[in-house]
Amino acid sequence: MQNLPRVPIAFLPTPVEPLSRLSSHLKGPALYIKRDDLTGLAFGGNKARKLEYLMAEAKAQGADLVVTAGAVQSNHCRQTAAAAAQAGMRCILVLTGDKPNSFSGNYLLDSLLGVEVVWSTRANRERDLKQTVERAVAEGRKPYLVPYGGSSPTGAAAYAYAIQEVMDLLPTPDTIVFASSSGGTQAGMVVGARVYGYTGKIFGISVDEKSEVLKERVARLAGETAQLLGENLTFSPDEILVNDDYLGKGYGIMGDPERNAIRLFASIEGMMLDPVYTGRAGAGLVDLIGKGFFKKDQTILFWHTGGTPALFAENYSASL
Ligand SMILES: *Cc1c(COP(=O)(O)O)cnc(C)c1O
Repeated sequence: MQNLPRVPIAFLPTPVEPLSRLSSHLKGPALYIKRDDLTGLAFGGNKARKLEYLMAEAKAQGADLVVTAGAVQSNHCRQTAAAAAQAGMRCILVLTGDKPNSFSGNYLLDSLLGVEVVWSTRANRERDLKQTVERAVAEGRKPYLVPYGGSSPTGAAAYAYAIQEVMDLLPTPDTIVFASSSGGTQAGMVVGARVYGYTGKIFGISVDEKSEVLKERVARLAGETAQLLGENLTFSPDEILVNDDYLGKGYGIMGDPERNAIRLFASIEGMMLDPVYTGRAGAGLVDLIGKGFFKKDQTILFWHTGGTPALFAENYSASL
């Protein structure tokens, strides 16, 4: 597999820890956790891995400005803003949703990182992103557009490489479970699994899409990522494992399942999950174990993708 240009940003490899007390409490399979919440870059998360390759691409293109989009409490936007600051580039975030009355969580960090914010809505996001880039070009700047969630083939490639960190683990995990959304993490993982020969399952718990939509997106992005890495591989949506039973009331809406999972992981393991992604995936994992979905003699690796600053977002902390 080809090595893409990389800016060292993340603390890698991330640690793996057993969740023994949670495993016994649930009377389920052996649980381990992969700590991508500890990648560094303004409080960690999976976007730090992707940004190593995205920022290398931005630099190669001579960019002096990074533009991306996300929700008000987007972890992707926060980590992109931090990567831009570290690289001495400016950053414009197109944020969707209502402008909050105060600064908290990721939005506070965005502000400390010195970003410029353009307010938008989910429906107008693509248009506003395009206009923001065009305006910057007209002003004589050299913008680099980071796609939603950092999920271009360049960003996704980071998770293909990340599978190398799993190949050394003993016991080898039978299944990797994680929160899947824009699909870059999962697409990268399935490419890495094929290339490095990981034969376990790669099981995404969808945070905001029906499984048909996400499977399709992951399969397509995986094919493109493989191409970029010089691997002639194709992926069909049928081989992508996605569970969409835990969408609740929709993206970013924390309900009892997320709240209970956050409290369980914290109180029994001292482990922090987040209200949007890992709380939802954690809730799914706990529920699936309760239903006997995984065999007791199996080993499950829960890949913590970060997001913990959202715990301190006013709208979530008030109802945790
Ligand atoms: C972005 C994000 C995800 C989802 O990753 P994708 O590559 O977009 O599927 C999961 N967890 C956290 C905390 C994230 O910020």
